[in-house]
Amino acid sequence: MSALPPGSTIGILGGGQLGRMLAIAAARLGFNVHIYSDTSGPAFDVCVAHTLGAYDDSEAVAAWAAKVDVVTYEFENVPLAAAAAAASKKPVRPNARALEAAQDRLAEKRFLESLGLAVAPFYPVDDTASLASAIDAIGTPAILKTRRLGYDGKGQARIATPADAGRALEAIGNAPAILEGHVRFDCEISVLLARGIDGATASYDIPLNTHVDGILATSAVPGPLSEALAARAQEAAARIADALDYVGLIAVEMFYAGKNAERPLVVNEFAPRVHNSGHWTLDACAVCQFENHIRAVAGWPIAATARHSDAVMTNLIGSDVNDWLTLAGEPGACLHLYGKNEARPGRKMGHITRLQALSSKIAG
Ligand code: AMP
Repeated sequence: MSALPPGSTIGILGGGQLGRMLAIAAARLGFNVHIYSDTSGPAFDVCVAHTLGAYDDSEAVAAWAAKVDVVTYEFENVPLAAAAAAASKKPVRPNARALEAAQDRLAEKRFLESLGLAVAPFYPVDDTASLASAIDAIGTPAILKTRRLGYDGKGQARIATPADAGRALEAIGNAPAILEGHVRFDCEISVLLARGIDGATASYDIPLNTHVDGILATSAVPGPLSEALAARAQEAAARIADALDYVGLIAVEMFYAGKNAERPLVVNEFAPRVHNSGHWTLDACAVCQFENHIRAVAGWPIAATARHSDAVMTNLIGSDVNDWLTLAGEPGACLHLYGKNEARPGRKMGHITRLQALSSKIAG
């Protein structure tokens, strides 16, 4: 397919802050954005049109898709039936295979392992008996995670000793799950890779990510990886994207176990979408993750991912956002607010990226 010309309409499933930043990037390239969402959200303020509908209303999704030129999404839990309904009208990018692999932790782990990538030891868990077998096989400490719909550390329970098993199953509501061995790591990183419809790929520099209460707190570049290890991490992400015939921006979260570890990079999970750990690209790169995602899904060439500044992105969670006026006055800081009116605890209200002159990469 040839490139979509400016003036075409990009359909985005989901109306949150990622949809908002995608819509802004799309507008810069002369596209219109039509959002489909089940609730009014931050993306509604910046799009040309929006449709309110349930994600499991395949007929409504198909009718919406018929009105746009290409369909993409800003969250990975788009029902597969909705993706199929949209695909019956227009190309869906990234394709449904990426959604399918990312929606189920068991399928995801098996897929990553099939590509020869290092993952935490894992074992499927459906009930008390299979959890006991899993603990026998993997040992403790371990983490019980629901197969579906977990995010920001939700749907997870730590198992320090086998005696925690019953409580952990209860904590995740006895949902189908996997038990994962606890990975000993130095820090967490993520690869942000864009892949075009011609299969060309480009990765951003790899940030160091920190979390508080299971929610991303900061992403900083340069990160901790040597050039050689960064190349290996980027190659792993490209292998995932190639295997899925992926089009768009993919985020691959990894544990970094230190340069002397037997397996320095262990893949945790991937998100088939733009990602919070790539928000610094808005201010520290000529072309950000959002624009490269839009370029990819529109069939345009992927633009250079080079970074012109060092950066630390800090999420503004809940009441953090109340400091907006002070933050707005801070030299060298780029403030992004998502237009959400209620600063509930744990809610991502905005982020701020602090830029510094480019340093040389840390050798490791
Ligand atoms: P997830 O929802 O899989 O991204 O997990 C949320 C957070 O829990 C990760 O960012 C890690 O900090 C931690 N975590 C998840 N899985 C493991 C694991 N297998 N070993 C150690 N820490 C983990």
